[in-house]
Amino acid sequence: MTVLACDFGGRRIKLGVVRAGHVVAHAVIPAQSHESLASRLPVVANSLLELCDDAGIQLRECRGVGVSYPSIIDPADERILDQFGKFADGARVDLHAWAQQEFGLRLALENDARMALIGEWRYGAGRGCDNVVIVTLGTGLGAAAVIEGRLLRGRHGQAGILGGHLTVRYNGWPCVCGNIGCAETEASTSVLVERATQLSCFKQSCLAAENDLTYETVFRCAGQGDECAQELAQQTLAVWGSMTVNLIHAYDPELVILAGGVMGSQDRILPAIQQWVAKHAHTPWGQVQIVASQLGDHAALLAAEWLVQERLVNEESTRE
Ligand SMILES: [Zn+2]
Repeated sequence: MTVLACDFGGRRIKLGVVRAGHVVAHAVIPAQSHESLASRLPVVANSLLELCDDAGIQLRECRGVGVSYPSIIDPADERILDQFGKFADGARVDLHAWAQQEFGLRLALENDARMALIGEWRYGAGRGCDNVVIVTLGTGLGAAAVIEGRLLRGRHGQAGILGGHLTVRYNGWPCVCGNIGCAETEASTSVLVERATQLSCFKQSCLAAENDLTYETVFRCAGQGDECAQELAQQTLAVWGSMTVNLIHAYDPELVILAGGVMGSQDRILPAIQQWVAKHAHTPWGQVQIVASQLGDHAALLAAEWLVQERLVNEESTRE
C-alpha cells in the first residue's frame, strides 16, 4: 500500500511517501508552531505533492494520509482534543477536510508517541514483540504501549500516552496539564533552562556560558567533570528512570524503547535507565529489556501506512 505521511513536531514537520514498509521519499520543513497550523497546511500539501513527483508516484496510487500529531486524539472521530502550546489552533483545524480537499484522500490521525511506537513495533526495535512500551524524551516526554499485541488507546484516547504526566514528585513543580510534579515538568527540554538556573551551583558552571542549553551539553559537561552538570544530569536521569519504572508497573512490557531528540546522548542515557530499572522496577518474572529506538524520524512516517491500513480494515468491517 502507498500512503502520504506527516509527522507534526514542535520544531519540525517530517513528511514522507511510504510504500510497502519503506519510506520512498521524505522531507523536513520547519514547524513554526508559534504561528498557526492552518497557515502551515498549504506548505505541507505542496511539499507532499513534490515528494510524490520526486518518487514518481501518482496521487491515485495512494490510499490515505497518515498523520502523527502531539496531542490526545479522540478515538471516535479522530479529532485533536488538546495540546500544550503546540499550534494553538490545532483543535479547531479540520485535517480530514483538508486531506479530502488537497488530495482527495482519507486521513488517519494518531498521537505522536503512539505513532513512534507503531513504527518501532512493526518495523524497528520492537519487531516480533507483543508487549512493548516506548518512552520519547525531548521537548516534552511521551509514551505509548502495546499490550498482548494490541495498541493501547482507551475510551478517550489517552491510555498509555500520558507518561510525561505521571507524577514523579508529589510536591514538585506545577505542570501545564494541571498536575504537580509530572516527569515532563521536572525534566524535559521545555523546562531545562529553568531547572538548570534554579541550581545554586549554576553560575559557576560551564553550563552558564551556553546560549542555547541542551541535554547534549549537560551530559557532555557532566562527563568532563562539571559538578553542577553532574547534579543536573543525575536529577534528570532519576526523573526519566522513575517515569520508566511507573510505565513498567502500569503496562507490564517485556521491552521498553527509548526514543526522541535527546537520545543523541544515548551512551549516557541508556545505561543509566537500564541500571535504574534493574534496581527499582518490580518484575519478579525477570528483567525488562531497555533499548534505543532504531528508526528515528522514520518511525512515525512508517507508522502512517499501518494506521491507514487499520482504519480501512475497520471501515470495511463496519460496512459488513
Ligand atoms: Zn503534567
